[in-house]
Amino acid sequence: MTTEALPTWDLTDLYAAVDDPKIDSDMDASRQQASAFESRYKGTIACDELTAAHLLQALEAYEALLADEYRPQSFAQLHYSTDTADAARGALLQKTREFGSSVATHLVFFDLEIGQISPAVYDGVMADQCLAPYRHYLDHEREMAAHNLTESEERILVETSNSRGHAFARLATEVNSRTRFTIEIDGQAQEKNQSEILVLLYDADRDLRRKAATSVSAGLQANRHVCTYIYNTLLHEKHVLDRLRSYSQPEDSRHLANELNGAIVDTVSDVCAANYDVVARYYRLKGRILGIGDLFHYDRYAPLRGQESAIDFPQARQIVVDAFGAFHPELAATAERFFVNQWIDAAVGAGKRGGAYCAAITPDHHPYVFMNYIGKPRDVMTLAHELGHGIHDVLAADNHLLDYHPVLPMAETASTFSEMLVFDRLLGELTDDGEKLALVCNKVEDTFATVFRQVSMYRFEQQAHRARRDEGELTTERLSELWQQNMQAMFGDSLKLGDEHADWWLYIPHIVDVPFYVYAYAFGELLVMALYARYQQEGDGFVDRYFKLLSAGGSRSPAELVGELGFDIADHAFWQGGCDLIAERVVQAEALAASTGAV
Ligand SMILES: [Zn+2]
Repeated sequence: MTTEALPTWDLTDLYAAVDDPKIDSDMDASRQQASAFESRYKGTIACDELTAAHLLQALEAYEALLADEYRPQSFAQLHYSTDTADAARGALLQKTREFGSSVATHLVFFDLEIGQISPAVYDGVMADQCLAPYRHYLDHEREMAAHNLTESEERILVETSNSRGHAFARLATEVNSRTRFTIEIDGQAQEKNQSEILVLLYDADRDLRRKAATSVSAGLQANRHVCTYIYNTLLHEKHVLDRLRSYSQPEDSRHLANELNGAIVDTVSDVCAANYDVVARYYRLKGRILGIGDLFHYDRYAPLRGQESAIDFPQARQIVVDAFGAFHPELAATAERFFVNQWIDAAVGAGKRGGAYCAAITPDHHPYVFMNYIGKPRDVMTLAHELGHGIHDVLAADNHLLDYHPVLPMAETASTFSEMLVFDRLLGELTDDGEKLALVCNKVEDTFATVFRQVSMYRFEQQAHRARRDEGELTTERLSELWQQNMQAMFGDSLKLGDEHADWWLYIPHIVDVPFYVYAYAFGELLVMALYARYQQEGDGFVDRYFKLLSAGGSRSPAELVGELGFDIADHAFWQGGCDLIAERVVQAEALAASTGAV
């Protein structure tokens, strides 16, 4: 594979460079704007004299302010991610974060006052059609505002946030990123950081995988006290804040932010747990393919035999654009704009951070795609995934900024759907059954990671929050017991996690950073499975409704958006349909394994 053709992005339509004087002058202007906004509107929203015209003017000023604030922040974030070792970029990032907090303190009043408008006044102003585009946003803000405290209390929480929960979450990140893991390779002891040691779990050499797993456990062992203390503190803080804000269940605040009814999330979680046997069935197959009778947790990511062909970037571009074009020419044309206009950074560089993302800025500025392209079939899927996000953002650009971003459970719709299109394309292009088997198994394992693993973690979190509330401070052993029970349930008897795995919750960032974030992944993936099945049945008849769904951005709740496509997300059968498709893939893997003689 040739790497010289890998594109880098052009950020000059944001700022010329890290030392562009316009960054500072824009930040100064934003600070002044925020302060002027506060003086102009504070005390004028939650009052009986409120008019529709005044509220509209405030909302438009608020959006303009946010848009201006995002510009330097986005540039700093994007620029930093392509070279995290460059001190100037790191310093700019920190500067824009502090700028963000200083702007935020001027804006605290606005959400609060929206929540404090009396129902009679609110109904009166909302009868005016000029506010119709903001109804969804305002209704949702008011629902959340029912849990607000007084302004002075909220201000204290904002100003102390970096010395409470955020401080502990940051400590967890720092502890984990500073942990060094020792492993002996070829007779030599080596020190690895977390990502270097975890990548060894994907190695073909079982002995190396086992040693890496032992090393992870030993490294985490040293963090047991501090990470358990951090997690207990966060569980306790959430309990206290939930009580003050009148949330009766630990999950309630997340469900409300996600615009989802808790009963629906319970349905997703229960349906997934009832389908854990699909996971077990796959790992029994994997054990047979690998020729390992007793799979342990360090065999989960073992690669299958068979070579993966390298795919160079121009070829990847072709595959993705062709797959999108087969769905609809507009999808292909929108994707092409990302390549032609240099909105993609796919190069692999020394200081570049890992992973991939798509950054949406504002409705009137295009999104950017970030990734590290090394030419594996999986990278083609990643390219499709991130372009899917980008297309979602482009299509949603007719919404105003406050409705631009899809709510979390809907945020992965276009990305996952795009991956499906490209997966089918790639599979169709492969001629060798061994390569097909490897691709299908990769897809199955990715899907498990997104659906069943996230649901297992969600169920762990639910029990951990309740245990802290009922039992007081929890020991590492108690948390590890809950972790192990919930994670093992997924594998049944197909794979033994083993005692060594019991403490591995200690480094999971999501449970620390955003409680209950994880279920949105499972929700999104299964939703797309159902949509894709509908597309396969209906063909072109589905295309318009799909575009409509994406164009809606975050302007409606998940239940409304999916309802418009003719689905009921409260229905058990809807989610079972998604799980059935995963099971079909496992059956496909079994058939390919049999035909290639891999088992
Ligand atoms: Zn994504």
